[in-house]
Amino acid sequence: MAPMKLEKRLFGTNGVRGIVGTDMTPELALSIGLALGSMRKGRIAVGRDTRTSGPALANALKAGLLATGCDVFDCGILPTPALQYLVRNHFDAGAVLTASHNPPEYNGVKVIEPDGTEMGDEQVILLENRLFGRRFEYAAWDDTGSEHASPDSVSEYVDTVVRQFPGRPGAGMTVVVDPGCGAACYTTPGILTRMGCRVLTVNGQMDGRFPGRFPEPSPDGIAPLCELVRAAGADFGVAHDGDADRAVIVDENGRFINENQEFALIADWICQQTKGTIVTPVSTSLLIETVARQHGCDVCYTPVGSIYVARTMLALQAEGIPVTLGGEGNGGIIYPAHQYCRDGGMTAAMMVSILAGTGRHLSAIIDEMPEYTLIAGKFRADDPSALINALSKTYLHDAIDWTDGIRINRNDSWALIRPSGTEPLVRVIAESADAGTARKFYDEILDRMQSC
Ligand code: MG
Repeated sequence: MAPMKLEKRLFGTNGVRGIVGTDMTPELALSIGLALGSMRKGRIAVGRDTRTSGPALANALKAGLLATGCDVFDCGILPTPALQYLVRNHFDAGAVLTASHNPPEYNGVKVIEPDGTEMGDEQVILLENRLFGRRFEYAAWDDTGSEHASPDSVSEYVDTVVRQFPGRPGAGMTVVVDPGCGAACYTTPGILTRMGCRVLTVNGQMDGRFPGRFPEPSPDGIAPLCELVRAAGADFGVAHDGDADRAVIVDENGRFINENQEFALIADWICQQTKGTIVTPVSTSLLIETVARQHGCDVCYTPVGSIYVARTMLALQAEGIPVTLGGEGNGGIIYPAHQYCRDGGMTAAMMVSILAGTGRHLSAIIDEMPEYTLIAGKFRADDPSALINALSKTYLHDAIDWTDGIRINRNDSWALIRPSGTEPLVRVIAESADAGTARKFYDEILDRMQSC
């Protein structure tokens, strides 16, 4: 059911990433623009996050698109999900210059398809072949593309999110937003304010040097957010990664909410309203399946990566199977009533709606959830696939799922051993409702890997 992962040369799970000036250069951005423009004619939207390298790379990418005859609409700085929304509604394709959660010295490109999803593996491989083969279709002198500024288009995205939650459900609520000086500085605070919330911000000014914290919203990095939540007596806090497709949450005590618990909270809210399938990668906590089953809903597992979640959701819908939610367990939530991609601003808005509906403290809801212990690590392996194959032969009596690496399922426990897409590493996760069992399972896998 879920699409298979295919080997790519340049792109990772979410686009191209690299260190600016060495891996990620204007020459590479130009080549991506030329390749994309040769494949996708028409009106192409271009956006970027706040990184200092953004203008140089965006101009190079736009040059490639224009030279191949595409009309370019420059949407400026905006969250990746905002550009995805705009592409689905108005454009023939899109590209975002962003390195998402990577440190400031990185940048990259995410390519957006006409349906608003990130480009899938098969099309990415065609794009890479064109790029490496330098098979570009340059337009004639009288057929090159035109460039248009589209700086206000982000307001259409904000309007759409707000419209999903009529009646100012956030009235009386205080929320602290930490966009991390990234692309959500003008979007999430605006969305929540228009939902009726009193909004305070940390790292609320756009700055591609990311002076407040790294673009990854880690528990350490968001300590100032936690502090302000407590000091202001806020209902909750929300922090985004650099391009705001993800959102992490802290409760009213300034406690970081594990992303699987955040996902479970939203899943519980969705399953109360609508019955259907929740789509998530094989790396996600059993907590999601537990919550879904409590409401008579199903879970469908995919390879690790938001594009596989989004594409599986679309494939299930096309077969007439109702899909109500997708998510990754890392703060990336896909709400299909809005769009088929992760959306951090929408996730923050959903949290307001959930808390307004229950009238309870976030900490109290989280503390009621079933507890699972999840242990994760990564280990060097010269040939990750060979190691995983050898390991699978030691688990012949267990139920093995081959969706991405191997997942071994045992009653209330599971373990996942999968190859890293970009490095000579295997990643190991073990989870159980019982902490001792999780540790034993994890250690057992490490032991067996050493003997392989
Ligand atoms: Mg991101």
